Amino acid sequence: MATKKKTDQDLQLDKDQLKASIVRHLRSTLGTSEQKASPEAWWKATAAAVNEQVYERLTRTQQTHFKKDTRAIHYLSAEFLMGRLSSNNLHNLSLYKICEEALGELGLELTDLCEQEPDMALGNGGLGRLAACFIDSLATLNYPAVGYGIHYEHGLFRQEIQDGRQIERPDSWREYGNPWEICRPESVQEIPLYGYVETVFGDKGGLKKVWHAGRKIKGVPWDIPVVGFGGHTVNILRLWESRASEFFDWDVFNAGGYIDSQAEKAQAETISKVLYPNDETDAGKELRLIQQYFFCACSIKDILRRYKRVHGADFSNFAAQIAIQLNDTHPTVAIPELMRVLVDEEGLNWDTAWGICYQVFSYTNHTLLPEALEKWSVSLFEKVLPRHLEIIYEINARFLNELVEPKWPGNDAIKAKLSIIEEGDVRKVRMGNLCVIGSSKVNGVAEIHSKLVKEDLFPEYAELWPEKMCNVTNGVTPRRWLLACNPELAGLYNEVVGKEWPLQLDKLRSVVKFADDKAFQQQFMSIKRHNKEKLVKVIKAETGIDVSAEAIFDVQIKRLHEYKRQQLNLIHIMALYRRLLANPDYDMHPRVFIFGSKAAPGYKLAKDIIYAINKLAERVNNDARIQGKLKVVFMPNYRVSLAEKLIPAADVSEQISTAGYEASGTGNMKMALNGAITIGTLDGANIEIAEEAGAENCAIFGLNVDEVKSLKARGYNPYDFYYANSELKAVLDWFDTDYFTPGRPGELSSIKRSLLEGGDPYLTLADFESYSEAHKLIDAWYRDPALWAKKAIINSATMGKFNSDRSIQDYVDRIWKLTSCSVG
Ligand code: PLP
Repeated sequence: MATKKKTDQDLQLDKDQLKASIVRHLRSTLGTSEQKASPEAWWKATAAAVNEQVYERLTRTQQTHFKKDTRAIHYLSAEFLMGRLSSNNLHNLSLYKICEEALGELGLELTDLCEQEPDMALGNGGLGRLAACFIDSLATLNYPAVGYGIHYEHGLFRQEIQDGRQIERPDSWREYGNPWEICRPESVQEIPLYGYVETVFGDKGGLKKVWHAGRKIKGVPWDIPVVGFGGHTVNILRLWESRASEFFDWDVFNAGGYIDSQAEKAQAETISKVLYPNDETDAGKELRLIQQYFFCACSIKDILRRYKRVHGADFSNFAAQIAIQLNDTHPTVAIPELMRVLVDEEGLNWDTAWGICYQVFSYTNHTLLPEALEKWSVSLFEKVLPRHLEIIYEINARFLNELVEPKWPGNDAIKAKLSIIEEGDVRKVRMGNLCVIGSSKVNGVAEIHSKLVKEDLFPEYAELWPEKMCNVTNGVTPRRWLLACNPELAGLYNEVVGKEWPLQLDKLRSVVKFADDKAFQQQFMSIKRHNKEKLVKVIKAETGIDVSAEAIFDVQIKRLHEYKRQQLNLIHIMALYRRLLANPDYDMHPRVFIFGSKAAPGYKLAKDIIYAINKLAERVNNDARIQGKLKVVFMPNYRVSLAEKLIPAADVSEQISTAGYEASGTGNMKMALNGAITIGTLDGANIEIAEEAGAENCAIFGLNVDEVKSLKARGYNPYDFYYANSELKAVLDWFDTDYFTPGRPGELSSIKRSLLEGGDPYLTLADFESYSEAHKLIDAWYRDPALWAKKAIINSATMGKFNSDRSIQDYVDRIWKLTSCSVG
């Protein structure tokens, strides 16, 4: 008997049904009772009840996509910084309020239960969080999409602060199980590694390459359902976990080698064990290359399996059905892997296979920092992926002969620059070059960044393929970053502009007309005040520091890197402190500087900056002379769930990177959307934020991209600024004393050294004065409550452009050419 297809209406639960389902799952899934259950058990029971909805919709989505045989995007990313899923899934299924009421009747608070969920921190920062926002938007816009990544056992390390220093602790996000993931043993893949390549005679005559792998690794897929807003489409994020190909090597075992067989298993499992904690830079380690190959090869196999289920071995539709996006260079090896599979395993000729690859792949560049452009030594490549190295040589030879030589005849310098292989003592494979050569589109992530990708990073490629280079400005999902994290402001917007804004963020623009309205200003600012009061409690609980919600909350939350310039913020706070010590009546509105930031464990200077912030905080926060006008807070273990508490409470958003270094930034968008005023350089998406909000509503300071370039070209000397500004000099000299580290002078000197003897590569001193002036402006604005409220409202109301739905629609229009597919 045919079952009747359930509509969205049929699926929607009411409060009593949800409550019954939670209690049922508490007993039958968690094996406990209402009397005994821990908050964690209640959270898992709630997730299980929600999953009944999720799975039903997931199945409907998959059946629809299969039936319609739709073109789909496959988003390959080594990182997905998902955070927590409970509140997001409830909001996207329109169940949040109902669940709150259902749990309320059971004597429970939904927000407390949500706190039980560990963050899924499978990413370092912006790049991984972008991938998470993008898969949310893809599902919301009903685009067929699969996210592919790595099921790290340990995500980004947990940061503890001990005596001011960062200590890294392992993150065990699924130690006690994760209710949002489903293991799919039926889709396990096996992938080869190491070994050698043999040339043999093929069945159809001619020569053929055979890769004899030295090892095989099993990839076990874990699926995380991705619920679109409204709950119509539920796509998946498929994360691969590595396992030994055979659980036991029975021969070794029978020969008495139990320990050896276990060692092999442990080695295989190492591949997906830990996320590399380097944001922006790369270690170039064998394990990292294997991680990259592992998830790419599993994903390519998975994509082919799904394609062949419908089309068999006829690849003529492959490029029409499949789009693959490479999120940075981490998944580049997917290009030679697809070539290998098509040529060696499926028997396609080179040109046909290359034609397919070229159409299928697109690449997003995330950084211009030279240390972040991945390169692998040829010898490592040869050892781990011998067949891929051959394929890369072939791609390179054809590219240089067929495209570069005709365009720049006899020009060896250009050939050397554009080659995938870097010559030198250690020959290297340049993954960025391979990406550009093997992709039909290359995009940067903000207007200015895309321009620099085209003009400075890849100018010759842009000359060869002008149509290949494009821009897609990043975005953030307004569901997580406003609706869920700032419910009061979301409620106000619902009243004023209606409930469509989470899908059409541009609708908020109509709020601009209330920017001068006293009653609206008062409502808006009292919501900010309430969010600040909530944060005051979190700060007290996490750090023991007392702060007042009366003060300006000035927030810098992002990875610690010299180019992001937390050191600029630090020296400016020290300058304020000096001003207050010199003149206790120094006229400023009380300010709380709040930091949240992890440093890569091997990045010594970054860790020293964290230490300096904490030592400064100890001194400033306990100095009665300054009458509480200045407070410094370092919030340990910055992560998505903490960002969700900090962002709604921020008055000032610090976006102070050296111009030309921050590709886009996304924290900048989130804070402005929640009514913070940006103090920032003309870098990345700050430029577009200032365009949308109006430059007069941001505190822009510092050198712009061209000025940075020309100062560097002229020869930047930080000592010029050190000697020219007595306050700056005094602040830098302070680092050499024991003022902040009593009895231990010199503990903070590395920061001064980096800014003077180290040459100050990120021009911190050059921008100090203008930064300090911008802060005076912020102070003056804040003392005029109506002016501040107006600017804050305008910032929040004009961030429509930075909806990640808009970014995804740009990808669809400019790159992926997908058709949206309604489900249900
Ligand atoms: N880390 C987390 C947890 C985030 O939520 C974000 C973005 O909001 C980032 C890092 C990236 O921040 P930024 O764009 O300021 O570098």
